[in-house]
Amino acid sequence: MYDAYVMPGPLALSRSTVDHATHRRTDAAWLEATWRDETTRVLVVGAGTVPVDGHELRFVSPSEAPDGHRYLLGVEDGIAYFAVGVDSAPAGGATLREVGAVLGDRDAGLAVHAVALANWHAAHRHCARCGQPTEVSAAGHVRRCPADGSEHYPRTDPAVIVLVTDEHDRCLLGRATAWPEKRFSTLAGFVEPGETPEHAVAREVYEEAGVVVTSARYAGAQPWPFPSSLMLGYYGTATGTEPRPDGAEIAEARWFKRDELRSAALAGDILLPGGISIARRLVEGWYGGALPTQG
Ligand SMILES: [Zn+2]
Repeated sequence: MYDAYVMPGPLALSRSTVDHATHRRTDAAWLEATWRDETTRVLVVGAGTVPVDGHELRFVSPSEAPDGHRYLLGVEDGIAYFAVGVDSAPAGGATLREVGAVLGDRDAGLAVHAVALANWHAAHRHCARCGQPTEVSAAGHVRRCPADGSEHYPRTDPAVIVLVTDEHDRCLLGRATAWPEKRFSTLAGFVEPGETPEHAVAREVYEEAGVVVTSARYAGAQPWPFPSSLMLGYYGTATGTEPRPDGAEIAEARWFKRDELRSAALAGDILLPGGISIARRLVEGWYGGALPTQG
């Protein structure tokens, strides 16, 4: 049954188009010449925000850019894109949650790359081996320790998010203890050391809801730099046993038929995931279309 589900796209934060031009990160002459080129576009990034004008990123030229570490984001149509990391939110700054869905494909990809890198730099200023302050290299994609020479790379933490269905074609949604009343979504959690994503799906669903997942199929992924995740979407199957929410992470867990989901959402009895989330897309893929919510 679940093989029929296809997660509708595109995912707001998965639309990157720009060539990362990784071979240029250590090309000092190219980096210097490109920074002197006033057609180079620079995106200021700070506190998880980037400057936006309407539906577009607002770039500055290198000469207009503030001081800060430069991160090469890539090259498209002969134009180089950099980010400059600053400590506070730039003027006109907006978060990815606010503008991730309205930016065009190129700008969405650039913004996600810039925010993810800036988040990593902000949280990894010291060497994990010896504690010395590290230095930025490789155009923002490596931090190097001057004391012991170790190199540290940007982190991306894999997490799984899963829509589980049962033999009656019902879907399993839960409400996290940290969420408001009525808010329901797919179950999710981080992949642990030694696990595959499929193992993590089964473990998380059993831990959080007491439901045994019998199979899991990859549905698509979305970078989720809040601060550093990669959300791996799955459709899972289970036999429809009564959920047993763990009470720690998950306060409520319920099976929903489509008509139950529809009437509950329309009546305001449940609030479904929204915005740029992969959760909403997973539910839509099962539901068969746009969800009946007021947003
Ligand atoms: Zn060190």
